[in-house]
Amino acid sequence: MKTIVYSTKPYDREFLDAAVRQYPHELTYLDARLTLDTVGLAKGFDAVCVFVNDHLDSEVIGILATVGIRAIALRCAGFNNVDLKTAKACNIKVVRVPAYSPHAVAEHAVGLILTLNRNIHRAYNRVRDGNFYLSGLLGFDLNGRSVGVIGTGQIGTVFAKIMSGFGCRILAYDVCPNNVCQKLGVQYVDLDRLFAESDIISLHCPLTPDTHHLINSAAIRQMKHGVMLVNTSRGAVIDTQAVIVGLKSGKIGYLGLDVYEEEADVFFEDLSNVVIPDDVLSRLLTFPNVIITGHQAFFTRDALSCIAETTLKNISDIEIQDKSLNEVSLSLVIR
Ligand code: NAD
Repeated sequence: MKTIVYSTKPYDREFLDAAVRQYPHELTYLDARLTLDTVGLAKGFDAVCVFVNDHLDSEVIGILATVGIRAIALRCAGFNNVDLKTAKACNIKVVRVPAYSPHAVAEHAVGLILTLNRNIHRAYNRVRDGNFYLSGLLGFDLNGRSVGVIGTGQIGTVFAKIMSGFGCRILAYDVCPNNVCQKLGVQYVDLDRLFAESDIISLHCPLTPDTHHLINSAAIRQMKHGVMLVNTSRGAVIDTQAVIVGLKSGKIGYLGLDVYEEEADVFFEDLSNVVIPDDVLSRLLTFPNVIITGHQAFFTRDALSCIAETTLKNISDIEIQDKSLNEVSLSLVIR
């Protein structure tokens, strides 16, 4: 299929160029995100290939349909940025990469926890400056602490396994509890209890109308004083303003974010020579107990290779048989 690939960086192209030898499609790479301003560039193509911050609302999808696009291939698992109803009405197939490396994301969440707890980021800078003083770097043992996991799908399950290995007690909340976690000794509880009893809370649920701002001021009020909050799922699961209030009062003792609700205009770009236009993000960056990474949890060689291969296979499946096992259906949202 003639495929226009939006939001690509050199690393995406490297892995897609390798995968295209196995699944031959004609790929045209763009740096630009897919938005109302750039959708016209899809004219003459059969498929669009997009990533997490491309914007596929009903207007954009309507235009994709008029220019003859048959498939939207997401290079990610989440599909909150796609208006599935309009895609279905326009008979455009939406395919995704449901699981590429749950380990990549779960391990990154653990990396954030260890860094926040033991202040490794601050110790690194201190030691390089000849400062071997320990005050301000005090951490706590993970062993015996309670970790709340919200969403125990592919990533949440791997995360729960790793944290069990540290000797943590794992509490979880999911609309569909799973056996693997239950066998591991994970205790499924309601959200109120998870908020009240967890020393660390890690988010691994998708962004849906139900999970939008799941972590808001009412939720934060129920949490332990000094709780550690980690989000590697989607930015808008957290109400950022409420979290800033929580950080200022000390209710939230540590915050690790790989995603941010207004990340689309900032993440994946080098803004080191410009003033960051987002005041909320800038405020977050002033806290010593906040670590932000720019949506890099998925970013391992293993994951990029799997994403590229699965994406191009998905496009082949649509081209050859007009269906794919990785199709996103409305029922995934409504269940
Ligand atoms: P998954 O579909 O395997 O698991 C999601 C889990 O969340 C499921 O068990 C589901 O039942 C549960 N869930 C759905 N609605 C819920 C709700 N209202 N409350 C609680 N639980 C709910 O997905 P996954 O592969 O584990 O990925 C989880 C999320 O991580 C993705 O949706 C995506 O947003 C995010 N993600 C982020 C990165 C990154 O680089 N930061 C990479 C991949 C995925």
